[in-house]
Amino acid sequence: MSERWDAIVIGGGHNGLVAAGLLAKRGRRVVVLERRHKVGGAAITETPWGPAFKVTALSYVVSLLPRTILDELDLPRFGYKIYPQFPYFAPRRDGRYLMMCDDPARRAAQIAKFSPRDADEIVRWDAWLGRLGALLGPMLTQVPPRLGSKRPGDLLAALRVAWRFRSLDERGVGDVTRLMTMSVADLIEERFESDAVRGVLAVSGVIGTWAGPRSPGTAYVMAHHKMGDVGDGQLGSWGFPEGGMGGVTQALRRAAEALGAAIRTDAEVVKIKVADGRATGVVLAGGDELDGDAVIATTHPRITFLHHLERGDLPDDFVAAIERWKSRSGVVKLNLALDRLPELTCKPGFDPEVHGGTIVLAESLDDLERAFQDAVAGSPAELPFADICIPSVFDATLAPPGKHVMSMFTQWVPHGFAAAPHTAELEAYADRLIARIEHLAPGFTSSILHRQIIGPHEMQTTYGLIGGNIFHGELSASQLFHMRPAPGYADFTTPIRGLYQASSATHGGGGVTGIPALQAVRRLLRDS
Ligand SMILES: Cc1cc2nc3c(=O)[nH]c(=O)nc-3n(C[C@H](O)[C@H](O)[C@H](O)COP(=O)(O)OP(=O)(O)OC[C@H]3O[C@@H](n4cnc5c(N)ncnc54)[C@H](O)[C@@H]3O)c2cc1C
Repeated sequence: MSERWDAIVIGGGHNGLVAAGLLAKRGRRVVVLERRHKVGGAAITETPWGPAFKVTALSYVVSLLPRTILDELDLPRFGYKIYPQFPYFAPRRDGRYLMMCDDPARRAAQIAKFSPRDADEIVRWDAWLGRLGALLGPMLTQVPPRLGSKRPGDLLAALRVAWRFRSLDERGVGDVTRLMTMSVADLIEERFESDAVRGVLAVSGVIGTWAGPRSPGTAYVMAHHKMGDVGDGQLGSWGFPEGGMGGVTQALRRAAEALGAAIRTDAEVVKIKVADGRATGVVLAGGDELDGDAVIATTHPRITFLHHLERGDLPDDFVAAIERWKSRSGVVKLNLALDRLPELTCKPGFDPEVHGGTIVLAESLDDLERAFQDAVAGSPAELPFADICIPSVFDATLAPPGKHVMSMFTQWVPHGFAAAPHTAELEAYADRLIARIEHLAPGFTSSILHRQIIGPHEMQTTYGLIGGNIFHGELSASQLFHMRPAPGYADFTTPIRGLYQASSATHGGGGVTGIPALQAVRRLLRDS
Protein backbone atom coordinates (compact mmCIF):
# COMPACT_ATOMS: atom_id res chain seq x y z
CA MET A 1 0.00 0.00 0.00
CA SER A 2 1.59 3.35 -0.94
CA GLU A 3 0.50 6.93 -0.23
CA ARG A 4 0.83 9.94 -2.50
CA TRP A 5 2.42 13.34 -1.79
CA ASP A 6 3.26 16.43 -3.82
CA ALA A 7 6.74 16.36 -2.31
CA ILE A 8 8.69 13.99 -0.07
CA VAL A 9 11.59 15.40 1.96
CA ILE A 10 14.26 12.94 3.10
CA GLY A 11 15.90 14.00 6.38
CA GLY A 12 14.53 16.10 9.23
CA GLY A 13 17.57 18.31 9.80
CA HIS A 14 17.11 22.07 9.54
CA ASN A 15 17.27 21.99 5.72
CA GLY A 16 14.55 19.33 5.50
CA LEU A 17 12.32 21.29 7.85
CA VAL A 18 12.87 24.59 6.00
CA ALA A 19 12.03 22.88 2.70
CA ALA A 20 8.86 21.36 4.16
CA GLY A 21 7.71 24.66 5.67
CA LEU A 22 8.27 26.62 2.47
CA LEU A 23 6.47 24.03 0.33
CA ALA A 24 3.57 23.72 2.76
CA LYS A 25 3.23 27.50 2.72
CA ARG A 26 2.65 27.25 -1.04
CA GLY A 27 -0.09 24.70 -0.53
CA ARG A 28 1.94 21.59 -1.38
CA ARG A 29 1.19 18.32 0.40
CA VAL A 30 4.59 17.56 1.84
CA VAL A 31 5.99 14.96 4.24
CA VAL A 32 9.38 14.90 6.01
CA LEU A 33 10.90 11.48 6.69
CA GLU A 34 13.48 11.41 9.49
CA ARG A 35 15.43 8.28 10.38
CA ARG A 36 15.99 9.16 14.06
CA HIS A 37 13.37 9.37 16.82
CA LYS A 38 13.51 13.18 16.66
CA VAL A 39 14.10 15.89 14.09
CA GLY A 40 17.03 18.32 14.10
CA GLY A 41 19.90 16.43 12.50
CA ALA A 42 23.12 18.23 13.46
CA ALA A 43 21.10 21.15 14.88
CA ILE A 44 19.67 19.36 17.88
CA THR A 45 19.31 19.63 21.65
CA GLU A 46 19.64 16.36 23.56
CA THR A 47 19.19 15.26 27.18
CA PRO A 48 21.89 12.60 27.63
CA TRP A 49 21.65 12.68 31.45
CA GLY A 50 17.89 13.08 31.92
CA PRO A 51 15.63 16.14 31.57
CA ALA A 52 17.47 18.45 34.01
CA PHE A 53 20.27 19.32 31.57
CA LYS A 54 19.79 20.13 27.90
CA VAL A 55 22.85 20.14 25.65
CA THR A 56 23.27 21.58 22.22
CA ALA A 57 24.70 18.26 21.14
CA LEU A 58 26.60 19.21 17.96
CA SER A 59 26.21 22.70 16.45
CA TYR A 60 25.91 25.54 18.94
CA VAL A 61 25.86 28.96 17.25
CA VAL A 62 23.70 30.24 14.42
CA SER A 63 24.46 32.95 11.90
CA LEU A 64 23.68 32.49 8.29
CA LEU A 65 19.90 31.89 8.30
CA PRO A 66 18.60 34.40 5.72
CA ARG A 67 15.93 36.91 6.68
CA THR A 68 13.64 35.46 3.97
CA ILE A 69 13.40 32.15 5.83
CA LEU A 70 12.82 33.77 9.22
CA ASP A 71 10.05 35.94 7.78
CA GLU A 72 8.37 33.40 5.48
CA LEU A 73 8.09 30.84 8.25
CA ASP A 74 7.41 33.47 10.92
CA LEU A 75 9.95 31.66 13.11
CA PRO A 76 9.94 34.01 16.13
CA ARG A 77 6.24 33.15 16.57
CA PHE A 78 7.23 29.49 16.94
CA GLY A 79 9.91 30.03 19.57
CA TYR A 80 12.98 31.10 17.55
CA LYS A 81 14.92 33.42 19.82
CA ILE A 82 18.58 34.39 19.54
CA TYR A 83 20.96 35.70 22.20
CA PRO A 84 23.82 37.71 20.69
CA GLN A 85 27.26 36.14 20.79
CA PHE A 86 29.87 38.00 22.81
CA PRO A 87 33.44 38.27 21.52
CA TYR A 88 36.16 35.65 21.79
CA PHE A 89 37.96 35.42 25.09
CA ALA A 90 41.31 33.64 24.83
CA PRO A 91 42.94 32.72 28.18
CA ARG A 92 46.61 31.78 28.03
CA ARG A 93 48.81 29.35 29.91
CA ASP A 94 51.09 32.21 31.00
CA GLY A 95 48.22 33.84 32.94
CA ARG A 96 47.42 36.57 30.38
CA TYR A 97 44.35 36.81 28.18
CA LEU A 98 43.11 38.43 24.99
CA MET A 99 39.50 39.57 24.62
CA MET A 100 38.42 40.48 21.10
CA CYS A 101 35.83 43.07 22.18
CA ASP A 102 33.38 44.48 19.61
CA ASP A 103 34.03 48.03 20.76
CA PRO A 104 37.04 49.22 18.70
CA ALA A 105 38.71 51.18 21.50
CA ARG A 106 38.45 48.32 24.02
CA ARG A 107 39.65 45.82 21.44
CA ALA A 108 42.63 48.00 20.51
CA ALA A 109 43.59 48.19 24.18
CA GLN A 110 43.34 44.41 24.50
CA ILE A 111 45.46 43.74 21.42
CA ALA A 112 47.99 46.41 22.37
CA LYS A 113 48.80 44.33 25.47
CA PHE A 114 50.42 41.91 23.02
CA SER A 115 51.42 44.21 20.15
CA PRO A 116 50.65 47.91 19.56
CA ARG A 117 51.34 47.30 15.87
CA ASP A 118 48.68 44.56 15.74
CA ALA A 119 46.23 46.93 17.44
CA ASP A 120 46.57 49.31 14.48
CA GLU A 121 46.56 46.55 11.90
CA ILE A 122 43.28 45.00 13.07
CA VAL A 123 41.40 48.08 11.86
CA ARG A 124 42.76 47.65 8.32
CA TRP A 125 42.15 43.88 8.50
CA ASP A 126 38.49 44.38 9.42
CA ALA A 127 37.99 46.91 6.64
CA TRP A 128 39.64 44.56 4.12
CA LEU A 129 37.60 41.55 5.20
CA GLY A 130 34.45 43.67 5.34
CA ARG A 131 34.93 44.70 1.70
CA LEU A 132 35.50 41.12 0.57
CA GLY A 133 32.61 39.89 2.71
CA ALA A 134 30.26 42.43 1.13
CA LEU A 135 31.30 41.14 -2.28
CA LEU A 136 31.30 37.40 -1.57
CA GLY A 137 28.56 37.18 1.10
CA PRO A 138 25.63 37.69 -1.30
CA MET A 139 27.04 34.91 -3.52
CA LEU A 140 26.11 32.44 -0.80
CA THR A 141 22.48 33.01 -1.68
CA GLN A 142 22.99 32.77 -5.47
CA VAL A 143 22.57 29.62 -7.54
CA PRO A 144 25.98 28.64 -8.96
CA PRO A 145 26.02 28.54 -12.76
CA ARG A 146 26.85 25.37 -14.72
CA LEU A 147 30.35 26.49 -15.62
CA GLY A 148 31.56 24.81 -18.80
CA SER A 149 28.08 24.30 -20.22
CA LYS A 150 27.62 25.93 -23.64
CA ARG A 151 23.84 26.24 -23.36
CA PRO A 152 22.79 29.89 -23.78
CA GLY A 153 20.98 30.02 -20.40
CA ASP A 154 24.04 28.64 -18.58
CA LEU A 155 26.39 31.03 -20.38
CA LEU A 156 24.15 33.92 -19.35
CA ALA A 157 24.16 32.73 -15.73
CA ALA A 158 27.97 32.58 -15.79
CA LEU A 159 28.09 36.10 -17.18
CA ARG A 160 25.81 37.29 -14.38
CA VAL A 161 28.31 35.96 -11.82
CA ALA A 162 31.19 37.65 -13.63
CA TRP A 163 29.14 40.89 -13.61
CA ARG A 164 29.02 40.76 -9.81
CA PHE A 165 32.78 41.30 -9.83
CA ARG A 166 32.70 44.32 -12.13
CA SER A 167 33.44 46.66 -9.23
CA LEU A 168 36.81 45.00 -8.67
CA ASP A 169 39.99 46.48 -10.05
CA GLU A 170 43.16 44.42 -10.60
CA ARG A 171 44.09 44.71 -6.93
CA GLY A 172 40.61 43.59 -5.86
CA VAL A 173 40.78 40.53 -8.11
CA GLY A 174 44.15 39.78 -6.54
CA ASP A 175 42.63 40.01 -3.06
CA VAL A 176 39.83 37.60 -3.94
CA THR A 177 42.32 35.18 -5.52
CA ARG A 178 44.49 35.29 -2.43
CA LEU A 179 41.51 34.72 -0.16
CA MET A 180 40.36 31.71 -2.18
CA THR A 181 43.75 30.03 -2.42
CA MET A 182 45.98 30.95 0.53
CA SER A 183 46.39 29.40 3.94
CA VAL A 184 44.91 31.42 6.76
CA ALA A 185 48.34 31.33 8.42
CA ASP A 186 50.08 32.98 5.44
CA LEU A 187 47.40 35.65 5.30
CA ILE A 188 47.53 36.41 9.02
CA GLU A 189 51.32 36.27 9.37
CA GLU A 190 51.69 38.92 6.68
CA ARG A 191 49.81 41.35 8.87
CA PHE A 192 50.06 40.40 12.54
CA GLU A 193 53.06 39.67 14.73
CA SER A 194 51.76 38.45 18.10
CA ASP A 195 51.03 34.78 18.78
CA ALA A 196 47.89 35.69 20.69
CA VAL A 197 46.24 37.60 17.85
CA ARG A 198 47.41 35.14 15.19
CA GLY A 199 46.00 32.19 17.14
CA VAL A 200 42.57 33.72 17.72
CA LEU A 201 42.18 34.99 14.15
CA ALA A 202 43.19 31.64 12.66
CA VAL A 203 40.47 29.68 14.45
CA SER A 204 37.69 30.44 12.00
CA GLY A 205 39.94 29.19 9.17
CA VAL A 206 40.05 25.68 10.57
CA ILE A 207 36.59 25.19 12.14
CA GLY A 208 35.20 21.89 10.92
CA THR A 209 37.97 21.49 8.39
CA TRP A 210 40.39 18.65 7.81
CA ALA A 211 43.18 21.17 7.37
CA GLY A 212 45.53 23.04 9.66
CA PRO A 213 46.05 26.80 9.51
CA ARG A 214 49.05 26.29 7.22
CA SER A 215 46.99 24.35 4.65
CA PRO A 216 46.15 26.28 1.44
CA GLY A 217 42.44 27.09 1.18
CA THR A 218 41.87 27.78 4.88
CA ALA A 219 41.73 31.54 4.22
CA TYR A 220 38.42 30.93 2.44
CA VAL A 221 37.06 28.90 5.37
CA MET A 222 37.74 31.93 7.56
CA ALA A 223 35.88 34.15 5.10
CA HIS A 224 32.95 31.70 4.99
CA HIS A 225 32.52 32.00 8.74
CA LYS A 226 32.96 35.77 8.55
CA MET A 227 30.03 36.03 6.15
CA GLY A 228 27.77 35.63 9.16
CA ASP A 229 28.99 39.06 10.21
CA VAL A 230 28.17 40.74 6.94
CA GLY A 231 24.90 42.22 8.13
CA ASP A 232 23.82 43.24 4.65
CA GLY A 233 20.19 42.64 5.40
CA GLN A 234 20.48 39.12 3.95
CA LEU A 235 22.40 37.24 6.57
CA GLY A 236 22.39 37.87 10.29
CA SER A 237 25.20 37.95 12.81
CA TRP A 238 26.27 35.09 15.06
CA GLY A 239 24.15 34.24 18.07
CA PHE A 240 23.07 31.48 20.43
CA PRO A 241 19.51 30.14 20.03
CA GLU A 242 17.33 29.72 23.10
CA GLY A 243 17.09 26.03 23.98
CA GLY A 244 20.32 25.23 22.11
CA MET A 245 20.33 24.51 18.38
CA GLY A 246 17.33 22.25 18.93
CA GLY A 247 15.50 25.52 19.61
CA VAL A 248 15.97 26.42 15.94
CA THR A 249 14.82 23.07 14.57
CA GLN A 250 11.91 22.78 17.00
CA ALA A 251 10.72 26.23 15.86
CA LEU A 252 11.13 25.07 12.25
CA ARG A 253 9.17 21.91 13.00
CA ARG A 254 6.33 23.83 14.66
CA ALA A 255 6.21 26.33 11.78
CA ALA A 256 6.15 23.58 9.13
CA GLU A 257 3.44 21.65 10.95
CA ALA A 258 1.33 24.77 11.44
CA LEU A 259 1.52 25.30 7.69
CA GLY A 260 0.29 21.74 7.11
CA ALA A 261 3.48 19.70 6.56
CA ALA A 262 3.55 16.14 7.92
CA ILE A 263 6.65 15.14 9.86
CA ARG A 264 7.47 11.51 10.56
CA THR A 265 10.27 10.32 12.79
CA ASP A 266 11.61 6.74 12.99
CA ALA A 267 11.08 6.76 9.23
CA GLU A 268 14.28 5.63 7.54
CA VAL A 269 14.39 5.86 3.77
CA VAL A 270 16.26 2.95 2.19
CA LYS A 271 15.57 3.61 -1.48
CA ILE A 272 14.54 6.38 -3.85
CA LYS A 273 12.23 4.96 -6.51
CA VAL A 274 13.08 5.92 -10.09
CA ALA A 275 11.14 5.24 -13.28
CA ASP A 276 12.23 6.45 -16.73
CA GLY A 277 14.89 8.74 -15.19
CA ARG A 278 12.39 10.40 -12.86
CA ALA A 279 12.06 10.11 -9.06
CA THR A 280 8.65 8.67 -8.20
CA GLY A 281 8.85 8.11 -4.44
CA VAL A 282 10.71 6.33 -1.67
CA VAL A 283 10.80 3.01 0.14
CA LEU A 284 11.12 2.96 3.94
CA ALA A 285 12.95 0.41 6.08
CA GLY A 286 10.18 -2.06 6.81
CA GLY A 287 8.90 -1.88 3.26
CA ASP A 288 6.30 0.93 3.30
CA GLU A 289 6.32 3.01 0.13
CA LEU A 290 5.45 6.66 -0.45
CA ASP A 291 4.86 8.11 -3.92
CA GLY A 292 5.58 11.72 -4.72
CA ASP A 293 5.72 14.13 -7.63
CA ALA A 294 9.07 15.32 -6.30
CA VAL A 295 11.68 14.22 -3.76
CA ILE A 296 14.06 16.55 -1.91
CA ALA A 297 17.05 14.78 -0.35
CA THR A 298 18.79 16.56 2.52
CA THR A 299 20.92 13.57 3.49
CA HIS A 300 24.69 13.43 2.98
CA PRO A 301 25.38 13.00 -0.76
CA ARG A 302 26.94 9.57 -0.22
CA ILE A 303 23.70 8.40 1.43
CA THR A 304 21.50 9.94 -1.25
CA PHE A 305 23.40 8.93 -4.34
CA LEU A 306 25.39 5.84 -3.36
CA HIS A 307 22.94 4.16 -0.94
CA HIS A 308 19.45 5.24 -1.97
CA LEU A 309 19.89 5.01 -5.74
CA GLU A 310 21.07 2.31 -8.10
CA ARG A 311 24.37 3.12 -9.79
CA GLY A 312 22.75 2.47 -13.13
CA ASP A 313 20.35 5.37 -12.47
CA LEU A 314 23.23 7.88 -12.45
CA PRO A 315 25.89 8.94 -14.98
CA ASP A 316 29.31 7.40 -14.26
CA ASP A 317 31.10 10.75 -13.95
CA PHE A 318 28.54 11.94 -11.40
CA VAL A 319 29.00 8.75 -9.32
CA ALA A 320 32.78 9.25 -9.55
CA ALA A 321 32.43 12.84 -8.28
CA ILE A 322 30.36 11.69 -5.29
CA GLU A 323 32.82 8.88 -4.54
CA ARG A 324 35.64 11.45 -4.60
CA TRP A 325 33.71 13.84 -2.31
CA LYS A 326 35.91 14.69 0.69
CA SER A 327 34.06 14.44 3.99
CA ARG A 328 36.63 14.46 6.80
CA SER A 329 36.88 16.65 9.92
CA GLY A 330 38.46 15.12 12.99
CA VAL A 331 36.04 17.14 15.17
CA VAL A 332 35.06 15.97 18.65
CA LYS A 333 32.21 17.55 20.58
CA LEU A 334 32.50 17.44 24.37
CA ASN A 335 29.37 18.42 26.34
CA LEU A 336 29.50 18.84 30.10
CA ALA A 337 27.07 19.44 32.96
CA LEU A 338 28.67 21.65 35.62
CA ASP A 339 27.93 22.15 39.28
CA ARG A 340 29.22 25.75 39.10
CA LEU A 341 30.85 28.17 36.69
CA PRO A 342 34.61 27.92 36.13
CA GLU A 343 36.66 30.72 37.66
CA LEU A 344 39.58 31.69 35.46
CA THR A 345 42.79 32.66 37.24
CA CYS A 346 43.52 35.28 34.57
CA LYS A 347 40.14 36.99 35.13
CA PRO A 348 38.73 36.13 38.55
CA GLY A 349 35.02 36.39 39.34
CA PHE A 350 31.97 36.28 37.09
CA ASP A 351 32.11 38.26 33.86
CA PRO A 352 29.12 37.98 31.48
CA GLU A 353 31.38 38.73 28.51
CA VAL A 354 33.58 35.78 29.45
CA HIS A 355 31.20 33.22 30.91
CA GLY A 356 28.39 34.17 28.54
CA GLY A 357 30.70 34.53 25.55
CA THR A 358 32.99 32.20 23.67
CA ILE A 359 36.15 31.00 25.31
CA VAL A 360 38.72 29.84 22.81
CA LEU A 361 41.72 27.65 23.53
CA ALA A 362 44.09 28.58 20.71
CA GLU A 363 47.16 30.38 21.93
CA SER A 364 49.08 30.47 18.67
CA LEU A 365 49.08 29.38 15.05
CA ASP A 366 51.76 26.88 15.92
CA ASP A 367 49.59 25.26 18.62
CA LEU A 368 46.78 24.90 16.10
CA GLU A 369 49.02 23.50 13.39
CA ARG A 370 50.65 21.05 15.82
CA ALA A 371 47.22 19.79 16.91
CA PHE A 372 46.33 19.15 13.27
CA GLN A 373 49.67 17.49 12.50
CA ASP A 374 49.24 15.14 15.50
CA ALA A 375 45.99 13.94 13.92
CA VAL A 376 47.53 13.69 10.44
CA ALA A 377 50.22 11.46 11.95
CA GLY A 378 47.51 9.21 13.40
CA SER A 379 47.08 10.35 17.02
CA PRO A 380 44.51 12.58 18.71
CA ALA A 381 45.95 16.06 19.32
CA GLU A 382 48.13 16.36 22.39
CA LEU A 383 46.97 19.98 22.93
CA PRO A 384 43.53 20.16 21.24
CA PHE A 385 42.02 23.45 20.20
CA ALA A 386 38.55 24.22 21.60
CA ASP A 387 35.74 26.69 21.09
CA ILE A 388 33.75 26.77 24.33
CA CYS A 389 30.46 28.28 25.39
CA ILE A 390 28.27 28.04 28.49
CA PRO A 391 24.84 28.97 27.11
CA SER A 392 23.08 28.32 30.44
CA VAL A 393 24.62 31.62 31.63
CA PHE A 394 21.99 33.55 29.62
CA ASP A 395 19.51 30.75 28.79
CA ALA A 396 17.75 29.46 31.92
CA THR A 397 15.95 26.71 29.96
CA LEU A 398 19.08 24.56 29.78
CA ALA A 399 20.03 23.73 33.38
CA PRO A 400 18.66 23.92 36.95
CA PRO A 401 19.36 27.21 38.81
CA GLY A 402 23.05 27.53 39.70
CA LYS A 403 24.08 24.62 37.44
CA HIS A 404 25.38 24.90 33.89
CA VAL A 405 25.98 23.16 30.59
CA MET A 406 29.22 23.67 28.68
CA SER A 407 29.60 23.02 24.96
CA MET A 408 33.14 22.36 23.73
CA PHE A 409 33.78 22.14 20.00
CA THR A 410 37.24 20.64 19.63
CA GLN A 411 39.77 19.50 17.00
CA TRP A 412 41.53 17.22 16.02
CA VAL A 413 41.44 13.46 16.15
CA PRO A 414 42.42 11.41 13.08
CA HIS A 415 39.61 11.49 10.52
CA GLY A 416 39.88 7.71 10.32
CA PHE A 417 38.19 7.62 13.76
CA ALA A 418 34.92 7.75 11.79
CA ALA A 419 35.36 4.05 11.03
CA ALA A 420 35.21 2.81 14.65
CA PRO A 421 34.25 4.18 18.11
CA HIS A 422 37.83 4.65 19.50
CA THR A 423 36.25 5.12 22.92
CA ALA A 424 39.42 4.87 25.03
CA GLU A 425 41.30 7.40 22.87
CA LEU A 426 38.37 9.83 22.98
CA GLU A 427 38.13 9.53 26.77
CA ALA A 428 41.86 10.31 27.07
CA TYR A 429 41.48 13.22 24.63
CA ALA A 430 38.61 14.62 26.73
CA ASP A 431 40.73 14.21 29.87
CA ARG A 432 43.48 16.30 28.26
CA LEU A 433 41.02 19.07 27.37
CA ILE A 434 39.62 19.10 30.86
CA ALA A 435 43.15 19.17 32.31
CA ARG A 436 43.88 22.16 30.07
CA ILE A 437 40.90 24.04 31.52
CA GLU A 438 41.80 22.89 35.04
CA HIS A 439 45.16 24.62 34.57
CA LEU A 440 43.37 27.86 33.58
CA ALA A 441 40.53 27.50 36.12
CA PRO A 442 41.58 25.46 39.16
CA GLY A 443 38.71 23.37 40.55
CA PHE A 444 37.09 22.92 37.14
CA THR A 445 37.43 19.11 37.12
CA SER A 446 35.60 18.74 40.40
CA SER A 447 32.70 20.85 39.06
CA ILE A 448 31.89 18.33 36.31
CA LEU A 449 28.69 16.39 36.99
CA HIS A 450 28.36 14.59 33.64
CA ARG A 451 30.20 14.41 30.35
CA GLN A 452 29.27 13.36 26.83
CA ILE A 453 31.86 12.84 24.09
CA ILE A 454 30.69 12.73 20.47
CA GLY A 455 33.46 11.71 18.09
CA PRO A 456 33.52 11.16 14.31
CA HIS A 457 32.14 7.61 14.51
CA GLU A 458 29.05 8.64 16.44
CA MET A 459 28.59 11.63 14.13
CA GLN A 460 28.59 9.20 11.22
CA THR A 461 26.47 6.40 12.65
CA THR A 462 23.96 8.29 14.83
CA TYR A 463 23.70 11.58 12.94
CA GLY A 464 24.44 10.56 9.34
CA LEU A 465 27.47 12.86 9.03
CA ILE A 466 29.48 10.53 6.84
CA GLY A 467 33.21 10.62 7.54
CA GLY A 468 32.47 12.83 10.56
CA ASN A 469 32.52 16.03 8.50
CA ILE A 470 30.34 18.61 10.21
CA PHE A 471 29.18 20.21 6.92
CA HIS A 472 28.38 17.00 4.92
CA GLY A 473 31.61 17.73 3.03
CA GLU A 474 34.72 19.84 3.38
CA LEU A 475 34.64 23.54 2.53
CA SER A 476 37.78 23.27 0.40
CA ALA A 477 38.17 25.28 -2.81
CA SER A 478 37.65 22.09 -4.86
CA GLN A 479 34.26 21.58 -3.20
CA LEU A 480 32.78 25.07 -3.37
CA PHE A 481 30.28 26.94 -5.52
CA HIS A 482 29.91 25.22 -8.94
CA MET A 483 31.68 22.14 -7.53
CA ARG A 484 29.34 21.59 -4.55
CA PRO A 485 28.71 18.66 -4.61
CA ALA A 486 29.50 17.86 -8.26
CA PRO A 487 30.23 19.84 -11.45
CA GLY A 488 27.02 20.43 -13.38
CA TYR A 489 24.81 19.76 -10.34
CA ALA A 490 25.40 22.72 -8.04
CA ASP A 491 21.98 24.14 -8.95
CA PHE A 492 20.13 21.87 -6.48
CA THR A 493 19.03 19.49 -9.24
CA THR A 494 20.40 15.96 -9.67
CA PRO A 495 20.79 13.67 -12.68
CA ILE A 496 17.33 12.27 -11.79
CA ARG A 497 14.37 14.47 -12.81
CA GLY A 498 12.13 15.34 -9.89
CA LEU A 499 14.93 14.62 -7.36
CA TYR A 500 16.40 17.75 -5.77
CA GLN A 501 19.25 18.04 -3.29
CA ALA A 502 19.32 20.44 -0.36
CA SER A 503 21.87 19.12 2.11
CA SER A 504 24.73 21.13 3.58
CA ALA A 505 26.83 19.61 0.80
CA THR A 506 25.22 22.00 -1.69
CA HIS A 507 26.08 25.66 -2.25
CA GLY A 508 25.10 27.95 0.61
CA GLY A 509 25.42 24.99 2.92
CA GLY A 510 28.07 24.32 5.46
CA GLY A 511 26.32 25.45 8.60
CA VAL A 512 22.79 26.08 9.73
CA THR A 513 21.89 28.34 6.82
CA GLY A 514 18.70 26.86 5.32
CA ILE A 515 19.93 28.29 2.01
CA PRO A 516 20.10 24.87 0.24
CA ALA A 517 16.46 24.22 1.18
CA LEU A 518 15.38 27.67 0.02
CA GLN A 519 17.10 27.20 -3.34
CA ALA A 520 15.88 23.63 -3.88
CA VAL A 521 12.30 24.68 -3.18
CA ARG A 522 12.57 27.63 -5.58
CA ARG A 523 13.91 25.29 -8.25
CA LEU A 524 11.21 22.67 -7.62
CA LEU A 525 8.47 25.31 -7.86
CA ARG A 526 9.94 26.61 -11.10
CA ASP A 527 10.06 23.12 -12.60
CA SER A 528 6.51 22.15 -11.66
C1 LIG B 1 29.97 19.17 16.06
C2 LIG B 1 29.31 20.12 15.10
C3 LIG B 1 29.31 21.47 15.36
C4 LIG B 1 28.74 22.35 14.45
N1 LIG B 1 28.68 23.68 14.78
C5 LIG B 1 27.99 24.52 13.99
C6 LIG B 1 27.69 25.82 14.44
O1 LIG B 1 27.97 26.19 15.57
N2 LIG B 1 27.03 26.65 13.58
C7 LIG B 1 26.62 26.24 12.33
O2 LIG B 1 26.02 27.04 11.59
N3 LIG B 1 26.86 24.97 11.90
C8 LIG B 1 27.50 24.11 12.70
N4 LIG B 1 27.66 22.80 12.33
C9 LIG B 1 27.21 22.39 10.99
C10 LIG B 1 25.71 22.28 10.91
O3 LIG B 1 25.18 21.75 12.11
C11 LIG B 1 25.29 21.38 9.73
O4 LIG B 1 25.93 21.85 8.55
C12 LIG B 1 23.79 21.42 9.52
O5 LIG B 1 23.09 21.25 10.73
C13 LIG B 1 23.38 20.33 8.54
O6 LIG B 1 21.99 20.47 8.29
P1 LIG B 1 21.27 19.60 7.16
O7 LIG B 1 19.82 19.78 7.34
O8 LIG B 1 21.87 19.90 5.85
O9 LIG B 1 21.69 18.11 7.48
P2 LIG B 1 21.51 17.25 8.82
O10 LIG B 1 21.32 18.13 9.98
O11 LIG B 1 22.64 16.30 8.84
O12 LIG B 1 20.14 16.50 8.56
C14 LIG B 1 20.05 15.35 7.76
C15 LIG B 1 19.03 14.46 8.43
O13 LIG B 1 18.85 13.29 7.63
C16 LIG B 1 18.61 12.20 8.51
N5 LIG B 1 18.84 10.97 7.78
C17 LIG B 1 20.01 10.37 7.50
N6 LIG B 1 19.79 9.24 6.79
C18 LIG B 1 18.46 9.15 6.61
C19 LIG B 1 17.63 8.20 5.97
N7 LIG B 1 18.13 7.13 5.34
N8 LIG B 1 16.28 8.39 6.00
C20 LIG B 1 15.74 9.48 6.61
N9 LIG B 1 16.50 10.40 7.26
C21 LIG B 1 17.84 10.24 7.24
C22 LIG B 1 19.59 12.46 9.63
O14 LIG B 1 19.23 11.73 10.79
C23 LIG B 1 19.46 13.97 9.80
O15 LIG B 1 18.46 14.29 10.73
C24 LIG B 1 28.18 21.88 13.24
C25 LIG B 1 28.13 20.51 13.00
C26 LIG B 1 28.69 19.63 13.92
C27 LIG B 1 28.63 18.16 13.64
